This record gives sequence, structure tokens and C-alpha cells, in this order.
Amino acid sequence: MTTTAITHIGSLVTNDTSLGTGPLGLLRDAAVVVDGDRVAWVGGTSKAPATDNAVDAGGRAVLPGFVDSHSHLVFAGDRTDEFNARMSGRGYSAGGIRTTVAATRAASDAELEAGLVRYLDEALRQGTTTLETKSGYGLSVHDEARALRIAAAHTDEVTYLGAHVVAPEYADDPDGYVALVTGEMLDACAPHARWVDVFCEKGAFDGDQSRAVLEAGLAKGLSARVHANQLGHGPGVRLAVELGAASADHCTHLTDADVDALAQGSTVATLLPGAEFSTRAPWPDARRLLDAGVTVALSTDCNPGSSFTSSVPFCIALAVRDMGMTPDEAVWSATAGGAAALRRTDVGRIAPGARADLVLLDAPSHVHLAYRPGVPLVAGVWKRGVRVR
Ligand SMILES: [Zn+2]
Repeated sequence: MTTTAITHIGSLVTNDTSLGTGPLGLLRDAAVVVDGDRVAWVGGTSKAPATDNAVDAGGRAVLPGFVDSHSHLVFAGDRTDEFNARMSGRGYSAGGIRTTVAATRAASDAELEAGLVRYLDEALRQGTTTLETKSGYGLSVHDEARALRIAAAHTDEVTYLGAHVVAPEYADDPDGYVALVTGEMLDACAPHARWVDVFCEKGAFDGDQSRAVLEAGLAKGLSARVHANQLGHGPGVRLAVELGAASADHCTHLTDADVDALAQGSTVATLLPGAEFSTRAPWPDARRLLDAGVTVALSTDCNPGSSFTSSVPFCIALAVRDMGMTPDEAVWSATAGGAAALRRTDVGRIAPGARADLVLLDAPSHVHLAYRPGVPLVAGVWKRGVRVR
């Protein structure tokens, strides 16, 4: 196998406290040796072993590839008009999802796949090397299963979200739709998915319905994640913790009991500031969660309705500016935090044995991701040891 050393890294984020200083395991004037698809060695440039190839980082920063643990990328159409109206004063509700459902059902497999590939590539160019994505715009047995089949051809982290909203055909029979989601649709979808998810929210699914969806998925061998407490208070976060979900996502409206539950359980709180940005909604309070000892992940929620950004650096900047996170915390949450939300230990860190997913910034420090918002700082990306940009 070919070995490559990246040397003269001005500031290296390892996310391994045994390798460097602080929670980010920071190293100065560092080198990383990549062997095949894995990290083989991390240390000071002067001590780097001989390798086949070398890349001189020239004092710039390197960090783990971003782990975006929440997106919705199998869809057709867009919702420009809805966004435009919202920015002109109209509010956001869960019902807009049905617009995308109609367009997605009408699209061919090839069209859906081309869209997914386009957004995965867009994310990769911005440093995202692990990306979860969901179904949820099909809402029929056929359309949910095909969304997951298409997703599974391009990412390992695939989530069954038949319970995104009640399908239009079941508008007068939501419990009938839950029976479909937990029965025939689950049977068709489970072979293509790792995770089961539900939008537990007023206008989508209530606590009892959400519990039924998650328990059915768990019984089928899937692991749970939950869209919880985005638009208002509700049972989603505590249900996620009770059922041992890997992640409760959004967490915008939390009671003290919700925060306590997250702090005592193993469920990661995944914050998605692109949604608050794009719906002009109040920010989730990351500081409150971090101070309570909750593990926080930061992701894009990339979807055509409420957060049409694939940029993790943008979300880092929002989290620092408006959610009370320090730059170090935001970078950790977008890398190691995302990995925790996906229960992965092979990504989100740069240490011997980890997958060689690396981002080279055109900046001396990871702090610049928040310090220089909107600037395309990602100058190099390695995924599984292969330089892809
Ligand atoms: Zn979402």
C-alpha cells in the first residue's frame, strides 16, 4: 500500500486527547501519515517516518473530515417560492414537506440519484467525508423503499423516515398511516437502512405514534434517531433518551427535564442551525446543553424545505456566533460529535487506525471556520486516504 505524509501542519485537530492538548487534542507543527485508507501515524513533523509521498501543508490547519449526521438528500424539485414567501413574512410549518413529496414521487430513479450524487459531491468539496441521509419524501411503500435503495448505494448511513409527515392519502387516518409505516413499509425499507427516525412534532407525529414507529424499527433490528423538539416543546427528546436513540435532532425547545434526560442518558443532542437560519426561528441553546454535560453534534439538516445548505463550515459559524459555542466546541461537534451521533469510532478523529478522512484548510487554525464565515477555506480533502480535492 502507498504511504503519504502530510507534514508541516501548523495546527492539527486530532480529537484524541492522548495525542495533543485540550479537548481537540491539538498538535503544532504536526504530521500525519496515511497508509492506504487509514491513518498510520500522528506526531511532530521532525519525527515523521519515511513515506512514499509527501504533502507539505505549509503551516496550514488540518482537521478530521466533517461528519454530517443529519440530511435529507433523496428528493426532487425545490422550494424556492416557499423560502421566498417565508423570508417575506410567512411562518414555517411541517406541512411544506408534502410539496417535496409530490415532486419526489413524480421523479425517476435516475433523477433522484443524480440529485443525491450532486449534493454528496457538493458536501465533499466542503469537507464532509461522512454523511447520513434519510428517506421521507416518498411516504408510500414503493417510494420510501426506492429512496433508501438509492441512498444505500452512496452512503453507509441510511435512515428510514417513513414517519416524516402523514402521507396525503392518509390525511384523515393518521393511525392507519402509522400502521403502514410500522408494517408493510418497514418490511420493505429495513433491508436498506441502518436507522429508523420519526418527526415527533405537532403537525407530524405525537408521542404515542412516534413510540410505535421507533419500537417497530428497533424490533426489526434498526437503531433509533429522532427529530425532536424543533418547533415547540414535546415528548420527542425524552422518548429518544428512553428508547436509547443514538441522537435527538434539533433540540431547539427544551425544558429542564429534557436537558436532564439528555445529560443522564447516552443520546447525543444534534443541533441543526441551518434550519433556524432558514426558517428565521430562535436558535437552539448549545451553551445550556454543553454546561449540563450533554454530548452535542452539529449537522446541516440539508433538505430543500427548511435548511438547503450542505455546508458544515456555515453551521459551525452560526453555532459560534448565535448558539453560545466556542470555536473549539463547534469544530468538535461537527467532527467527533457527528461520529458519536452515528455511533462511529472510525471517523471524526485523526489517530492511528482511524479512517484517513482529512480536511486541509487554507488557514492556520480551525478557528478560522468561524472567524471567516462564508469563505471557502477548504483547500484539500482526503476520503479513505484518497485525495478528492
Ligand atoms: Zn431533518
